[in-house]
Amino acid sequence: MMVKCPRCAKEVSYGGNPYRPFCSDRCKTADLAAWADEQYKIPEDKAKSDEISYYNNINQEESEC
Ligand SMILES: [Zn+2]
Repeated sequence: MMVKCPRCAKEVSYGGNPYRPFCSDRCKTADLAAWADEQYKIPEDKAKSDEISYYNNINQEESEC
């Protein structure tokens, strides 16, 4: 089964690929970094009231892996 890397659209094998669905460690790291950066873009006044739910969301994401 071939999948397209979400980062660079290069076709890579899904099976046996430790970086799936990415083509490489570089693409995976770059995408996760971008994702983490998005998470930090919370307005300051909202961040305080949403702090608990924010961390709960992070924990849920990790447990799904
Ligand atoms: Zn890639």
